[in-house]
Amino acid sequence: MIPGSFAYHRPTSVKEAVGLLARLGDDGRALAGGHSLIPMMKLRLATPANLVDLAGIAELKGIRSDGNDIVIGAMTTQHDLIGSDVLQSKLPILRETSLQVADPQVRYLGTLGGNVANGDPGNDMPAVMMCLGATYHVMGKNGERRIAAREFYQGAYFTALETGDVLTAVRIPVPPAGHGYAYEKLKRKIGDYATAAAAVVLTTSGGKVASCSIGLTNVAETPLWAEQAAKTLVGSTLDAATVKKAVAAAEAITAPASDARGPAQYRTKMAGVMLSRALKTALSRARG
Ligand SMILES: Cc1cc2nc3c(=O)[nH]c(=O)nc-3n(C[C@H](O)[C@H](O)[C@H](O)COP(=O)(O)OP(=O)(O)OC[C@H]3O[C@@H](n4cnc5c(N)ncnc54)[C@H](O)[C@@H]3O)c2cc1C
Repeated sequence: MIPGSFAYHRPTSVKEAVGLLARLGDDGRALAGGHSLIPMMKLRLATPANLVDLAGIAELKGIRSDGNDIVIGAMTTQHDLIGSDVLQSKLPILRETSLQVADPQVRYLGTLGGNVANGDPGNDMPAVMMCLGATYHVMGKNGERRIAAREFYQGAYFTALETGDVLTAVRIPVPPAGHGYAYEKLKRKIGDYATAAAAVVLTTSGGKVASCSIGLTNVAETPLWAEQAAKTLVGSTLDAATVKKAVAAAEAITAPASDARGPAQYRTKMAGVMLSRALKTALSRARG
């Protein structure tokens, strides 16, 4: 399919991009890697009259440390995340997740900002960002706002972004050294979106879980932060009975659609299975 016609804009600063998007209103759309937006345009599910390409804005790229946080520019690609030494040492869950997003071809162009701004419950990064307690930096016509990932997702393709907004960066607090982590994803084949997936970050002390956070992908209209399930695990050794309770708590907040990836009940159960696996792997990696 061929997309409808559109005008192409290539700003060189965030200020210029925000000005353009604010002026164009509903007729304008930010373009990042294009690997969600262009397919939607080809299917005529999106028909923006203007594309504002963010690729020429140098300030939107790169990974830097800022105190105890890592700040990643929105136009940093999934491929860049995989190759980053600082992420590998401080936030290895991002590399593990990126390697499970689509395939190398998509990852060369697909950006972190596009993945988290898109609002598709099938995207992998949003649940990981909720798990990590990340914050999104958003520039709009009235200046910068910072929005917690846990408050950003409102429904399928509905987020806290307003017309004219550009998501400029993702700020992630670095978990303590020696933390355990895992992203477990069930997919039908390489390059597929998740049937269900679970992100876990935890710390241990004396063999017991000292802190835990859990995110779930593609088992509701939005990514999910499984707060109650994680609380259940704190103080435990991840013994079978406690894990069972946590899995039940996580499954209880899911509301997946029945689709080509399976009936809703199956996808809920797979979220539980992914969570059990992620907890086991995270515990095996934790030092504390
Ligand atoms: C074959 C295939 C398989 C895929 N499999 C997976 C998968 O397994 N897991 C997964 O997570 N993703 C998958 N994807 C999607 C891919 O990761 C996309 O690249 C990603 O979802 C969007 O990033 P992008 O940079 O391409 O954004 P774009 O497609 O350019 O934009 C997506 C949306 O976000 C908006 N947007 C983008 N950047 C910004 C910004 N900085 N500020 C405000 N709004 C912005 C755009 O206006 C648009 O609405 C797949 C894609 C393909 C083609």
